[in-house]
This record gives sequence, C-alpha cells and structure tokens, in this order.
Amino acid sequence: MSETPFIRCPGCDTLIDPTRTACPGCGRCPACGVKRSQTVKTCPNCNLAYCSCCGRCPQCLELRYSEIGPCECGHPKDAQQIEDLVRYHATVGAERRPAETGCILVVVILLILFFIGMFTLKG
Ligand SMILES: [Zn+2]
Ligand SMILES: [Zn+2]
Ligand SMILES: [Zn+2]
Ligand SMILES: [Zn+2]
Repeated sequence: MSETPFIRCPGCDTLIDPTRTACPGCGRCPACGVKRSQTVKTCPNCNLAYCSCCGRCPQCLELRYSEIGPCECGHPKDAQQIEDLVRYHATVGAERRPAETGCILVVVILLILFFIGMFTLKG
C-alpha cells in the first residue's frame, strides 16, 4: 500500500490527508488540535465559498489552509505522529486508543474488588 490512508479529523470528522498541516474543515492541527488559522470562508483566487464540510474550493479545487506551515507540535514532519493519526483515526480499521482499554481495565478491577468485598463481608 503506497497511498496514504485518509483519516477522520479528530476535531470535526472531515476526511483529511494526515500529512496536512491544518484540517481544511476546522483549521486545526490534526495531531495536537491547536487551531492554526482563523476561519476563511471564501477562496481568494476564485472568490467562491469553500465547501462548508471539506473546505475545498468548487472551482480550483484548492484546499483551505494549504499555505499554513508546520505546527509547533512537529506535525507533519514527525513521521511517528502521522503513524499514530493513521492508526487511531483511519477511516477503515482504526484501533482504539490505549487509554480507552486502560479505563475498561480500571472498571473491571474495581468490580472485582467490589465483589471480593461483598464475599468477605458475608463470610
Ligand atoms: Zn477538522
Ligand atoms: Zn500540532
Ligand atoms: Zn464538502
Ligand atoms: Zn478557488
């Protein structure tokens, strides 16, 4: 697979290329969520409104916020960050973030402790 898989922007659910510096939908850095730009509604070249969902100009097909440089968090120069974005936000086959599994584990452990407490009280 040579093509970069598309991801869902963690901020607004728009389908984006994970190597973009800012999401054309919400203008946020897809890696750290920092807003990289004020909202721009019209394409300066064609004077046409960008699509409200994907941020593409209907005439020149230029994506909004394409001119924004790399983010302070290192995106998109950090290959590891892009790998993580693809892993957790890919449109197909995304994995759960480890934090979620961690939460489930804590709940399970608490439940087990609760039941142990119940049995010891009865005994
Ligand atoms: Zn977005
Ligand atoms: Zn960032
Ligand atoms: Zn659209
Ligand atoms: Zn345009």
